[in-house]
Amino acid sequence: MDVCIFCKIARKEIPSAIVYEDESTLAFLDIAPVSEGHVLVIPKEHAEKVHELSEKAGYALIDSVKKVSAAVEKCFNCSFNILNNNGKEAGQAVFHVHFHIIPRRGLKDEFRYEWPSKKLQNHAKLVAELKAALSQG
Ligand code: 5GP
Ligand code: ZN
Repeated sequence: MDVCIFCKIARKEIPSAIVYEDESTLAFLDIAPVSEGHVLVIPKEHAEKVHELSEKAGYALIDSVKKVSAAVEKCFNCSFNILNNNGKEAGQAVFHVHFHIIPRRGLKDEFRYEWPSKKLQNHAKLVAELKAALSQG
């Protein structure tokens, strides 16, 4: 996709700090890391959201996320979050699928999130709606 910044990074039209590359994926340092060693893993194929990827690109992406995760743990000897935002309300700013791998060392200035848990309600309706959507493929 011509105007997509991550497609441009994948095509090496703009520079990035690449840490891993294979036929279908690329991993590079986030330009504005929320912790040291914050890596983005992207498919070379353009898609906005994770479920819009082809089966091949989806498998390849998860495989690379696993590889980079193992490297982050080994390299920094720390915990980490894997984050994938889909849609602007979910915080997606770059509309090309990407997984953040964010090292967590327990420092105050690092990434954190709120988890506003509530009591599960309407579960029968929710299960029925989701099952119906899933059965449509
Ligand atoms: P999102 O909010 O879409 O999940 O995250 C997009 C991420 O891409 C942000 O963390 C941002 O810092 C990163 N980013 C945006 N533009 C560039 C760029 O040109 N190069 C790199 N390396 N990271 C970028
Ligand atoms: Zn793209």
